[in-house]
Amino acid sequence: MSNEIDKKLQQKNIKPTAMRELVYGVLDKNRKALSLYEIEQQFDNVDRSTIFRTLKTFQDNLLIHSVDDGSGAVKYALCDDDCTCSLDDLHYHFLCTKCGQTHCLKNMPIPKVDLPEGFNFENANFVIKGTCPNCQG
Ligand SMILES: [Zn+2]
Ligand SMILES: [Zn+2]
Repeated sequence: MSNEIDKKLQQKNIKPTAMRELVYGVLDKNRKALSLYEIEQQFDNVDRSTIFRTLKTFQDNLLIHSVDDGSGAVKYALCDDDCTCSLDDLHYHFLCTKCGQTHCLKNMPIPKVDLPEGFNFENANFVIKGTCPNCQG
């Protein structure tokens, strides 16, 4: 049991369980957006649906946000402590076309969208593609 992780979970009203601690640990360690498949690879013998349910709980409680980077798989990344996943918290994501990794650009908020009358905002994905620092040089 890790106190640090438990505190993070409880801050978002998530009851700590062994599985939740493990999944949080994977996301925290990797510091980038991971797909369900990539998270599954970090475990020896865990059912995919268990991981998926854990991610769903995390997302419902604003501990993580999902990223649709156009690669075909939804990816998940940790939110900041004070994130409420509102329009103000949405940021650009960066997909490296060489290594396929997706990074949160948390200090790059997405521009305010001014929708025509009758259109209601729900969500937005702003993805930049290119090469990450690891893949250059
Ligand atoms: Zn890269
Ligand atoms: Zn992000």
